[in-house]
Amino acid sequence: MTDFTMEKGADGVAVITWDVPGKSMNVLSMEGAATLDGFIDDALADEAVKGIVITSGKDTFAAGMDLNILADFQKNGAEGVFEGIMSLHRILRKIERAGMDPKSLKGGKPIAAALPGTGLGIGFELPLACHRIFVADNPKAKFGLPEIKVGIFPGAGGTTRVVRKLGVMAAAPFLLQGQLVDPKKAKGAGLVDEIAADPVAAAKAWVLGAKDADIVKPWDAKGYKMPGGAPYHPAGFQTMVGANAMIMAETWGAYPAPKAMLSAIYEGAQVPFDTALKIEARWFTHIIMNPSSGAMIRSLFLNKEALEKGANRPEAPDQRVKKLGVMGAGMMGAGIALVSAQAGIEVVLIDQKQEAADKGKAYTEAYLDKGIARKKTTPEQKEAVLSRITATTDYDTLKDADLIIEAVFEDPGVKAEVTRNVEAVIPEDCIFASNTSTLPISGLAKASSRPEQFIGIHFFSPVEKMLLVEIIKGKQTGDRAVAKALDYVRQIRKTPIVVNDARFFYANRCIIPYLNEGARMVSEGISPALVEHAARMLGMPVGPLQLIDETSIDLAVKIAKATKQAMGDAYPADAKGVDDLMFWLYDEGRLGRKSKAGFYAYDDKGKRTGLWEGLAAKYPLAEDQPDVIEVQHRLMFAQVLEAVRALEEGVLEDIREGDVGAILGWGFAPWSGGPFSWLDIVGTPFAAETCDRLAETYGPRFTTPALLREMAEGNESFYKRFGPQAKAA
Ligand code: NAD
Repeated sequence: MTDFTMEKGADGVAVITWDVPGKSMNVLSMEGAATLDGFIDDALADEAVKGIVITSGKDTFAAGMDLNILADFQKNGAEGVFEGIMSLHRILRKIERAGMDPKSLKGGKPIAAALPGTGLGIGFELPLACHRIFVADNPKAKFGLPEIKVGIFPGAGGTTRVVRKLGVMAAAPFLLQGQLVDPKKAKGAGLVDEIAADPVAAAKAWVLGAKDADIVKPWDAKGYKMPGGAPYHPAGFQTMVGANAMIMAETWGAYPAPKAMLSAIYEGAQVPFDTALKIEARWFTHIIMNPSSGAMIRSLFLNKEALEKGANRPEAPDQRVKKLGVMGAGMMGAGIALVSAQAGIEVVLIDQKQEAADKGKAYTEAYLDKGIARKKTTPEQKEAVLSRITATTDYDTLKDADLIIEAVFEDPGVKAEVTRNVEAVIPEDCIFASNTSTLPISGLAKASSRPEQFIGIHFFSPVEKMLLVEIIKGKQTGDRAVAKALDYVRQIRKTPIVVNDARFFYANRCIIPYLNEGARMVSEGISPALVEHAARMLGMPVGPLQLIDETSIDLAVKIAKATKQAMGDAYPADAKGVDDLMFWLYDEGRLGRKSKAGFYAYDDKGKRTGLWEGLAAKYPLAEDQPDVIEVQHRLMFAQVLEAVRALEEGVLEDIREGDVGAILGWGFAPWSGGPFSWLDIVGTPFAAETCDRLAETYGPRFTTPALLREMAEGNESFYKRFGPQAKAA
């Protein structure tokens, strides 16, 4: 069985069908590309064939390139990558030229793409090389080039063709942001040509009626001018300047792919089409050879998917949740009810008073109303989701629940009481989860009569937006509870990581030192703007001071107090500078964004207007300001060392979870692929050496962990030592 098959019809149309065996969506492999190439040669040479239709045997067209191949590409060196990508260009260009005489532009065979559904990445670049694109009238279908989101850019002609087709300005959202569009929008934007009830039939009819002129691409015809103007045209010039600024504003220069793509666009727009393809291939090679792209593909695509599919799920029968009890209808409980009901799960939402429970349910209603206003939800869907949520104070409704998630006040006493009361009514085999963010699961499990069925399911706020869910195993948590939590997270379509029980689990454990290091630098007289900008240039989505404002200064104070109490004498002495600063802001009533005052100043509407000038009065700027790289090292190692310690201590069992969890949980510089990928990029010897220096200058919080020291001595990499291949070996 091959990925493509060809059938030559009596009507003279050869239909090439893409249908990769055993996969729910088509992805392109190099073997697949070779088969397609052979069919194109055969059909072009066969006199009985008048034209070709390329379609799919699935209800979608294709999901793109097999990203495993791109990761492998890297291993073949720059020349291998360039040759590989040029071979794809040759196939697609052959389709586009379709055997026509390059001078007279006559004699080619029409080739149309017929897409029954979604076409992404190379699954859209292939249609772009065809002479006409027909798509099914399928509102679920999405078309576009999302490559930029995994740290690469469309390198099989997509960049060059979309720019030539639409002009730089109109192409920008599709290329620079990876925007995906449904059939109507795709047609409106000029990305596809026709929407048809039966795209294969429509494509066949078109192929049989097409004339020579119909199959010549504008850029192959004489007198082609790029829409909106090429870079040296006055309008085109403005566009390029604007695009450059837009990329820098969005990425702070941290991502290599958008810069490379813009270079491919700018340079390609000034030369003939075939040269532009070569330039695109060179820049694409440059990006594939950059370790960032491999790391992003690995974390954001391969590893994320592996975790979602249950890479670390223990053996247990299907544990999908039918009825969920949510205890506490506050901010978190309301969000958990929403995402669960949306996933088709029946939810009981319980609070102390009926009004509180109703308020929690009203959150879902308001959310869905917004969706209706934005045409993302229908009134019928709203009714269906709402009908799945029962807001009540009555514990009896939990009688047939199979999972409980507790999200009551962060107070061990309250949680223990809820646990006992709930366990008195739920079935024997029901799993009980706590959404605590700071209390150790093993401690909470003491209130449970079935600690092996007790687990942590830690959501991030806002629940409906955040993609990560941290699953925490207490000392006695059993396999079925882990499987239950994983199956539930899969139902609600989020990404799980499974960690062992320790203070702050994984994500919060790493983010807190980042926030503290930012605040500490301010307390040392380092410019707050330098701190914030250094973080953004590292690729952090939000600087530490802004993030403290977002999560609130009273929370920071609360955590500091609780940590101090829990750690006693072990509480680090160097926390004093940070504590003084935070307690001072707290006393000043500057609680962060919610009080429209914090590290930042805000206007009446709560919009940030800049860093608060009052900071400088209390913490005057030091005369000598550090180099931006030094600030970045402090911010980066503050997080990364916690990740290493979490691995060393066995809190993390899988570095893939450490990387994926970091990006999805707190936005850790996605270009790096996560803390372990970043360490592999900079190299463990450099990391250890830098830590030694930082520890000497700033204190023991930067002390090189023994594991990192050992790895640095052997110049080892985390993925070689702890990656899935190493585990399997
Ligand atoms: P919240 O104060 O908004 O909500 C708590 C709710 O629990 C309130 O509605 C309260 O009435 C209810 N409640 C209290 N005692 C109860 C009882 N005995 N029975 C039933 N309901 C009771 O708090 P929240 O921010 O939603 O946090 C809830 C839990 O989630 C906490 O453990 C917190 O640590 C954790 N958490 C919070 C966040 C966050 O960002 N807020 C993130 C992750 C986890």
